[in-house]
Amino acid sequence: MRRTRVVIIGSGPAGLTAALYTARAQLNPVVIAGGTLGGQVALTHEIENYPGFPDPLTGGELVERFKAHAERFGAEVVFDSVTEVDFSTGSPFTVKTHNETYLADVVLVTIGADPRKLKVPGEGEYVGRGVSYCGTCDGFFFRGKEVVVVGGGDSAMEESLFLTRFATKVTIIHRRDSLRAGIRLQERARNNEKINFIWDTVVEEITGDDSGKVGGVRLKNIKTGEESHFPTDGVFIFIGHIPNSDVFGDQIAVNERGYIITDTRYQTNVDGVFAAGEIQDELWRQVGTSVGQGTAAAMSAIHWLEDHEETLQALDAGEAVGESAD
Ligand code: NAP
Repeated sequence: MRRTRVVIIGSGPAGLTAALYTARAQLNPVVIAGGTLGGQVALTHEIENYPGFPDPLTGGELVERFKAHAERFGAEVVFDSVTEVDFSTGSPFTVKTHNETYLADVVLVTIGADPRKLKVPGEGEYVGRGVSYCGTCDGFFFRGKEVVVVGGGDSAMEESLFLTRFATKVTIIHRRDSLRAGIRLQERARNNEKINFIWDTVVEEITGDDSGKVGGVRLKNIKTGEESHFPTDGVFIFIGHIPNSDVFGDQIAVNERGYIITDTRYQTNVDGVFAAGEIQDELWRQVGTSVGQGTAAAMSAIHWLEDHEETLQALDAGEAVGESAD
């Protein structure tokens, strides 16, 4: 059992920013990073919209800088994954990983969200060989090629527009005959001469070519039932995200889509457990917003620790504490 003041679950921009702030407050945070640093942003090929970096850098480079910055002030980044938590006791909280059990005064949850999968044959097989969930990461590899995009939301439109920089033709396949995306993005996509739409249609299978890469998609029109094969070099899937909140079970309140609910101080329903970044923000998904939320959550956690210092010290000393520090 390892006793810590602060455990941060997740190593994306929100988590590493929270690590920087809590480290500078001399709280020696432990960041449980998962298997790889940075979460979704680490997969981004070029970041052009994070202020202060006018020359684009990769998501991987940016999160390495975030890590180095936090470590300079005493944060510790551990490549391990959380298997179980116990928030029922109140602070200090138990966080179990594959290799350690932490007892932490405060916990910051910044574990992010993963792209939703189509769950059709061929999808898993061709990831990295034509199937992608990130146009900004992989668009470059489709220079001069034809791709399809699955989805009808803002992400599908925005990423389709981005993909027209590289691909000669982008075909959006949507399961309905109207888009979910906002009107401005819709208009931009509809007016782009490289973008075409296939309506009322679902992808039933992703098929390969002779070289082991994506060669096409098997489609089904859900109104007519008609099936067809559509040749393509790439399949970009943007059908929403799934927040990584399962590991918390019913110990943190989430909304109907599984995103953690926080108040304006990024406090969850558990006193002393905070959440920031894409695990609680399903709208913006930007490095800049995650950094801001990580900052705010860390400052809330620092204030929370100050407010509860006496109680926590008494608990650690094994004294019976008769009243709350509130
Ligand atoms: P989203 O709004 O949930 O859209 C998901 C799309 O995928 C919908 O069109 C949905 O179809 C379709 N879909 C879902 N499951 C599917 C399946 N199994 N098979 C086929 N299609 C499926 O997700 P998002 O586009 O990632 O956006 C998430 C949030 O981020 C939204 O609030 C969005 O406004 C925001 N966002 C904003 C911007 C921006 O403002 N620039 C950019 C990106 C994202 P239906 O429409 O039929 O449900």
